[in-house]
Amino acid sequence: MASDPTLTSPYPPAATVAQIRANLASVRQRIDDACSRSGRDPATVRLLPVSKTVAVERLRLAYAAGCRELGENKVQEARHKHQTLADLTDLRWSVIGHLQTNKARYVARFASEFQALDSVRVAEALDRRLQKEGRALDVMVQVNTSDEDSKYGLAPNQVAPFLKALTPFSCLRVRGLMTLALWSSDTDRVRACFARLRQLRDRLRQNAPDGIELTQLSMGMSGDFETAIEEGATVVRVGQAIFGARPLPDSHYWPGAAPSPTPQSEQTP
Ligand SMILES: *Cc1c(COP(=O)(O)O)cnc(C)c1O
Repeated sequence: MASDPTLTSPYPPAATVAQIRANLASVRQRIDDACSRSGRDPATVRLLPVSKTVAVERLRLAYAAGCRELGENKVQEARHKHQTLADLTDLRWSVIGHLQTNKARYVARFASEFQALDSVRVAEALDRRLQKEGRALDVMVQVNTSDEDSKYGLAPNQVAPFLKALTPFSCLRVRGLMTLALWSSDTDRVRACFARLRQLRDRLRQNAPDGIELTQLSMGMSGDFETAIEEGATVVRVGQAIFGARPLPDSHYWPGAAPSPTPQSEQTP
């Protein structure tokens, strides 16, 4: 029998506007607390609710609870949701997962932000499609700070030449860097990934190419966003702590992620 991560997850499902609102408030409070611990202004940290696998009916509840932007990992899913919720005209979509060149046209059409840029080919495809649409797109460059083969993103030493290669693409507004930390319960090692991204940003910012602005650091998810804020995150991408546990294990989204633990009831005695 397949294990159901929702049974063992610390994140109970949020099924009403009130529950989603309460979860948003509690995440926001934890963000604010992490800011005061590290002497930061809470206004400098943006909470991006991540809605992958969450059905559109529940996204309407999230909208009613105040969400005006949502992050999605997969383009097809994001596109479907954008179309289904097109009546919510002030809802913005951020694509935060790996993109294939042949899907760039969709992102160019509906997304307000793309956080996982890591190839010149995708940048070129996006820019060409954006020109056609007469749109611009905020982008972040994804960096692999954990040195795991399974993670997308550029190696830290590839980022400077990559930024230079982005300068011809006038429809891409480069805002900063994004990363996923190591999958580990060892906070020190997770923290090191976030610190690596911040140091890289600080170093590159000094002589960033014209038109490239490296202010943003998108890092931190449900399990590690407080650590990320202590290390300088300006965007945290939080899904399960707002919407509840996902029915599919993380390995479905990130090939290298550890499978979810087997629920007690299903372990062989
Ligand atoms: C799913 C996802 C998140 C959010 O993860 P949670 O554990 O739900 O908080 C953040 N970033 C990316 C790239 C994701 O795919």
